[in-house]
Amino acid sequence: MLKTAQDLIKRAGERLGITQADIEYLLKTEAEHEFDIELANGERFKAFRTQHNSVLGPYKGGIRFHPEVDAEEVRALATLMSLKTAAVGLPLGGGKGGVAVDPRQLSQDELEELSRKYVAGLKEYIGPNKDIPAPDVNTNARVMDWMVDEYEKLTGDTSHASFTGKSLERGGSRGREAATGHGGIIVLREVLDELKDDKNPTTIAIQGFGNVGIFFAEIAEKDHANWQLVALTDSSGGVYNPNGLSAKSAHRFKREGGRLVEYGAAHAGTITNDELIATDVDVLVLAALGDVINEQNMYTVRARYVLELANGPISEKAYDYLTKKGIIIIPDILANAGGVVVSYLEWLQNKAREHWPEQRITQELEQYLTAATRNIFKRAVLDKISPKEAAISIAIERILKARNSRRL
Ligand code: NAD
Repeated sequence: MLKTAQDLIKRAGERLGITQADIEYLLKTEAEHEFDIELANGERFKAFRTQHNSVLGPYKGGIRFHPEVDAEEVRALATLMSLKTAAVGLPLGGGKGGVAVDPRQLSQDELEELSRKYVAGLKEYIGPNKDIPAPDVNTNARVMDWMVDEYEKLTGDTSHASFTGKSLERGGSRGREAATGHGGIIVLREVLDELKDDKNPTTIAIQGFGNVGIFFAEIAEKDHANWQLVALTDSSGGVYNPNGLSAKSAHRFKREGGRLVEYGAAHAGTITNDELIATDVDVLVLAALGDVINEQNMYTVRARYVLELANGPISEKAYDYLTKKGIIIIPDILANAGGVVVSYLEWLQNKAREHWPEQRITQELEQYLTAATRNIFKRAVLDKISPKEAAISIAIERILKARNSRRL
């Protein structure tokens, strides 16, 4: 994933005709923190925080708890965050963090201890004006609440602006939980609108039925009568019904402890993750993990659009292959930017000690993502490049412009 992120920058940089020194500047991370967390029971875990670029503002990016987290993955994700905040026009930089841990193996007390010790290890390097982490895979509002509490205990800061994605009681924003999925809906709607593609029904398959996938599916079902959900998977596999399925009902089944594959067996039909990638649908939504479409399975993709809600879900080779085939890939740095937009709004609310109503959040989210989508797709047409290349070009130009203005 790191090579993919860096190659994207190199290729866009060369196309834009920027200097080698500027490309090196964009690839370099400003700081990398790596340390061990030892729990009271003696278990040790590797922890990471990478701060990629802060020329546009404080570092911003999630914290992931997953056994496969390593320095390289965190560096790739931090790089993508800098591009994402710049591509959608936020005054923020890019960072990312994580702990190599399977949180399902920890008790609630151990999870809290791990979260608090993560903050203790980083307290000098993060904060409301330096680096503002947020949730990512396997972290949520409760983890952020522990983290903000620990940060405030250790530093005396009382703004709650050191972490976003908190609960409402701890200074979280309305609309934050749904923001990434909701943002994906806005972006997909704008793309279909821009390309005057209003097929009825527009069929959709979703890989990953976690925080992002669930909100995406439920908002699609509620707000878009002509979008039809036909396949859904999580790590267990999932459910397929070419005549349509209900996200609400699948979610209820999961909430009650069932697995999607069991829901499939009970309701319509089951589907594996490999089969989902190959489903004959209009839109394939990737909302699970990175590199899920790669050289092995890229030939099987039949969707007309791929919406990258996960970070880096398509390898570089697969990306080129699908683009040449005419499949429109709606890039992660735009498609999943809803989370960071509402994180930014949460940070603004904390700094102003305000709580905005949901309507204002939705309005601002709409404004940022509608403008960014139109801008990126317009640039793609103008320069005859893919939407991802257009998004990266716009991001690179914004970052370099800010860096150059500082030099004067
Ligand atoms: P989550 O942990 O809530 O959900 C992930 C889902 O993916 C789960 O349903 C899991 O079962 C499923 N999954 C895991 N491995 C799979 C596999 N091999 N095949 C199919 N499904 C699989 O995580 P999330 O917060 O929903 O994040 C999903 C993706 O979106 C991640 O890549 C994350 O980096 C990205 N993202 C999340 C946010 C956010 O606000 N949460 C913001 C931007 C990007």
